[in-house]
Amino acid sequence: MTPEFAHSEERPLPKRASVVVIGGGVAGVSAALTLAQWKVPVVLCEKGRIAGEQSSRNWGWIRKQGRDLRELPLMIESQQLWRRFDEQLDEDIGLRTGGTTYLADNEKDLAGHADWLERAKDFQLDTRLLSRAETDAMLGQSEGRFVGALHTPSDIYAEPARAVPAVARLAAAAGAEIFEGTAVRSIETAGGQVSQVVTEHGSIACEAVVLAGGVWSRPFLENLGLSLPQLAVQSSAQRTTEAPLISNSTFGASGASIRRRVDGGYTVARSGAARFDLIPAAFRHFFAFTPVLKDRWRIVKLRLGKTYFGPLGSHRWQADEASPFEAVRIFDPAPDHQLLDSVLQAAKTLYPQLADVRPVERWGGMIDVMPDEIPVIGPVAKLPGLIMATGLSGHGFGLGPGVGHLAAQLATGRAPLVDPAPFRYERFGS
Ligand SMILES: Cc1cc2nc3c(=O)[nH]c(=O)nc-3n(C[C@H](O)[C@H](O)[C@H](O)COP(=O)(O)OP(=O)(O)OC[C@H]3O[C@@H](n4cnc5c(N)ncnc54)[C@H](O)[C@@H]3O)c2cc1C
Repeated sequence: MTPEFAHSEERPLPKRASVVVIGGGVAGVSAALTLAQWKVPVVLCEKGRIAGEQSSRNWGWIRKQGRDLRELPLMIESQQLWRRFDEQLDEDIGLRTGGTTYLADNEKDLAGHADWLERAKDFQLDTRLLSRAETDAMLGQSEGRFVGALHTPSDIYAEPARAVPAVARLAAAAGAEIFEGTAVRSIETAGGQVSQVVTEHGSIACEAVVLAGGVWSRPFLENLGLSLPQLAVQSSAQRTTEAPLISNSTFGASGASIRRRVDGGYTVARSGAARFDLIPAAFRHFFAFTPVLKDRWRIVKLRLGKTYFGPLGSHRWQADEASPFEAVRIFDPAPDHQLLDSVLQAAKTLYPQLADVRPVERWGGMIDVMPDEIPVIGPVAKLPGLIMATGLSGHGFGLGPGVGHLAAQLATGRAPLVDPAPFRYERFGS
């Protein structure tokens, strides 16, 4: 835990706030920072540690390239917010403008990239297709291994484990009250409107709640009688020993995707390779997820085991009882070593500069996914005062600042920075 964010007798929870944010990942800390900078009294409750879950475990890519077009306006704003955070910080969060490059194994992949570029043309991005020779030059090789690539020079990246805690410190300096080790068990209402949150350390009266709980958002809502078709998939990543700089860009390839880290090593993983534990919610929401599963069937491993009854299973509790959020302070799933061995092997072949690297650390992360793979941001008609900021679907490190900003605007009745309609909670007919 971070001493400055600890709850204690000397540092008790405030009795009231305008807005309570649940969850100290990138979405939650960005919402808290935005609210604090507007001088709105805000308390952020995190059951474990700031960025203990997805927000420190990701690859660090902050990209416009390849995005769902419904997310692009928010993503463009998000990149600006990331740059603004970086300017306000006096610590290095590893934010660099190196670009994103998707390498194409064959003509079919390249045609897919060309299709996205055509569909995104109204956004006037600096994205372009690279020829085989240009791709080779960028990779510092001459084998013509890839038929071409999609490249966006203005895309950025950062070190997640540094960046999100740094944004939390910025929020605290602006006046946000942040409490780690503080699980929110439930929300209570008065006259049909949010009136307070109940935490393990007591209640906080408030006018609005921003739910930025990552994979825990669904069980939290189910306990309130609300439905959210959100599932969790487990992904694995690793960092390596130092290796030469290939280029400032991140590289995505079907075998292995890489990003150079500020420590001189690489974060190496494979896109879309995930394990999907069958839990009761998977059966309940199966049909909503059929299109995603069909798309990703080849790279998702399904598993039925004791996780069926695990923390993300079906649980009900009262506000005066310990909740699953206290049982699991930090979700720390074991990495898939077999997968990571094969990814590292592929990386050494695709990027010969990495021939001598060794893995230094491996980790797993639970990703929250919506059926249409875009977030849920906005109010819930059945519970006025509750604002969703969840379901970032595996690409929310980049989008998180925009998600938090938009949620903060919607929680305080301000004009939204982009049209929030695509992100409505009610789009699933809940
Ligand atoms: C291996 C991996 C690679 C990825 N790579 C990228 C990438 O390169 N680029 C990208 O844009 N995205 C990437 N992502 C996705 C990205 O990390 C997530 O979309 C993003 O971090 C989600 O942020 P969040 O704030 O919504 O959730 P989280 O970071 O999961 O935070 C939610 C927080 O809420 C807390 N919480 C939940 N319930 C409660 C409660 N009741 N009370 C108190 N606290 C609670 C949790 O403890 C947690 O800390 C990757 C993810 C993984 C796992």
